[in-house]
Amino acid sequence: MDGEVAFAILGAAGFGLAFGSFLNVCILRLPHDRSLLKPPSSCPQCGHLIGWLDNIPVASWVLLRGRCRWCQAPISAQYPLIEAVVALLWILSALYYGLTLHALAAALFATILLGIAITDARHYIIPDEFSFGGLAIGLLLSLRLGGQGFLDAMLGAAVGFGLLYAVAVIGKWMFKEEAMGGGDIKMMAMVGAFVGWKGVLLTVFLGALIGTVVFVPLTLKKKRLVPFGVFLAIGAAVTFVAQDAILSWYRRFLSIG
Ligand SMILES: [Zn+2]
Repeated sequence: MDGEVAFAILGAAGFGLAFGSFLNVCILRLPHDRSLLKPPSSCPQCGHLIGWLDNIPVASWVLLRGRCRWCQAPISAQYPLIEAVVALLWILSALYYGLTLHALAAALFATILLGIAITDARHYIIPDEFSFGGLAIGLLLSLRLGGQGFLDAMLGAAVGFGLLYAVAVIGKWMFKEEAMGGGDIKMMAMVGAFVGWKGVLLTVFLGALIGTVVFVPLTLKKKRLVPFGVFLAIGAAVTFVAQDAILSWYRRFLSIG
């Protein structure tokens, strides 16, 4: 392995672990409207503050064998797992796109989508901080593609918001109940800033497809809420990576058919 690749992997892993650690705090606190900054992390069992030495991503959990240093209460494996997954997403972004702003956009987008998928699956909540924070990041990073890139991102955000808003209004009118949450609408504005308006259409199509395949069998058994944000997140990730390939395949398909 040459030096540059090793450097990219190490750097991406470091940033990924740090962002994974921050994502853990977001997942834990945002659904309950708690501050990300205060109070500092403490053991939920004994209340002891967690010092920086016991807060090193993945490593501390392994060294402490998954237990609190003070009271030995077990610490969820979710923490090191999410840190490791985010680090992997950052490494893959760096390897796939090189050390570019596009790789940074991919890594941040993937991190936010993971956070959304987890909070939506668990609490049926898509925190505004993910959507609005991600929207700001997406618009800012679109400047890497120049003025046109920024306009495309703005248009994508507008289409994402408008399309899901329309679906929500029509759904409510047809089914007389909430078909689409406000969280999904704001989420898709964020997604649009990263993937553009065509990407919004592809994301919603893929999300609906995956959601139908996975969720319809489950809902037939028992009436339950559909965390549609989970499927939109998967659709958005696929769209970011493969949008061009999918759309050109589709165009070929149309011209042959
Ligand atoms: Zn403790």
